[in-house]
Amino acid sequence: MISRIDLRGSSVDPRDVLPRAEFDVAAALEKVRPIAEDVRHRGVAALIEITERFDGVRLESTRVPEEQLTAALETLDPKVRAALEESIRRARIVHGDQRRTGHTTQVVPGGTVSQRWVPVDRVGLYVPGGLAVYPSSVVMNVVPAQEAGVRGIAVSSPPQKAFGGRVHPTILAACALLGVTEVYAVGGAQAVAMFALGTEECAPVNMVTGPGNIYVAAAKRLFAGRIGIDSEAGPTEIAVLADDSADAAEVAADLISQAEHGPTSGSVLVTDSAELADAVEAELKTQVARTRHSERVAEALGGRQSGIILVDDLEQGLDVVNAYAAEHLEIQTRDAHAVAERVRNAGAIFIGRFTPVSLGDYAAGSNHVLPTGGCACHSSGLSVQTFLRGVQVVEYDREALAGIAAHVVNLADAEDLPGHGDAIKARFEWTVPGT
Ligand code: NAD
Repeated sequence: MISRIDLRGSSVDPRDVLPRAEFDVAAALEKVRPIAEDVRHRGVAALIEITERFDGVRLESTRVPEEQLTAALETLDPKVRAALEESIRRARIVHGDQRRTGHTTQVVPGGTVSQRWVPVDRVGLYVPGGLAVYPSSVVMNVVPAQEAGVRGIAVSSPPQKAFGGRVHPTILAACALLGVTEVYAVGGAQAVAMFALGTEECAPVNMVTGPGNIYVAAAKRLFAGRIGIDSEAGPTEIAVLADDSADAAEVAADLISQAEHGPTSGSVLVTDSAELADAVEAELKTQVARTRHSERVAEALGGRQSGIILVDDLEQGLDVVNAYAAEHLEIQTRDAHAVAERVRNAGAIFIGRFTPVSLGDYAAGSNHVLPTGGCACHSSGLSVQTFLRGVQVVEYDREALAGIAAHVVNLADAEDLPGHGDAIKARFEWTVPGT
């Protein structure tokens, strides 16, 4: 069911053999461009037609009426409401603590550079809703934006045929719980185009964040630059670095938990214990058979993006997980804390047997919108920082400028930009000693 890659005694570069999903965003761009052009030229009329084509729903309006949000909250299962409230509470504790305060650095007497953190004015948050619906992603997108102080927050999620063509009621209820009132029933690339370009019903935003399928990722790439984006999230993935102290049933359950997202999800076990590998494989057989979404879990575990990687020791295991740069990385080893400290590339690290990834998916307080596909070697997950811009404020008085004037003029001359030097000289009767 799950393939094995044996790196024991091998000096092969792990990057050449790692299991990873194919996620060809460049190819999807060709499908997304006409969608974006249609939204650019025809706005809401285009969104209604595209939604009918891809979601099988005929919308009257893209904007969800506020009464629908209130009604969804009123009819929300109390157990789900309590869980969402606790998830929000913990996310607020963590993200509130990430807020940055500006500071001023005195470079020389009379010369200061201050760093000011300013929230993005208006953001569009995408909440996926194809194969599965993710009210938890509402929390993970909205809380950091709110804690950063973003004033304009709009959410979009695909309308669901099974729910009378409305956005899933739990997503609407989550928005209501968070105080978000601007919600759109639009999915996929067309939602990103709506946010980036604006329509008669939706003002354009400055930034789009949130996970989604390949069309969402392609649309983000298309509009990046015009708007800010978080990372291009691909299919979700888990890597578990484990030794013989790990519990095979727990490791198998964790691999299944991420495979459940869809057939392209990746589940990877890296271990120096052949016995654990055998035991996890046996557990997978039993547990996959009884899990509700066994078909897509089996497809994900059997795909090229999943596998069990055997290594000589944890040293080599760390090389593998650092090369893989997993979205989610679990450390299930003795002295897991020390091992985790040596991980450089991962979207989020989950330490020890009582910290499974699904805790982070819902209610650890951490964010679950994380870089996938190896992007963790250069990008971060969503945080308050995602929604803040650092603005530098520079202030020099006459003496401070006089103290550096000659160097500025001389560097400007060296770059053949004498106008730059003249802007300094103009402030000192056109004479700067030492130039
Ligand atoms: P989605 O909401 O991203 O996409 C659904 C939309 O895709 C539909 O509304 C439809 O309009 C559009 N679409 C469908 N077929 C199309 C086609 N042929 N051409 C153009 N558009 C088309 O939902 P999804 O598909 O279930 O994908 C969700 C993804 O998000 C999964 O890969 C999941 O793993 C990921 N995810 C990641 C995280 C994270 O934090 N990294 C969290 C939740 C979900």
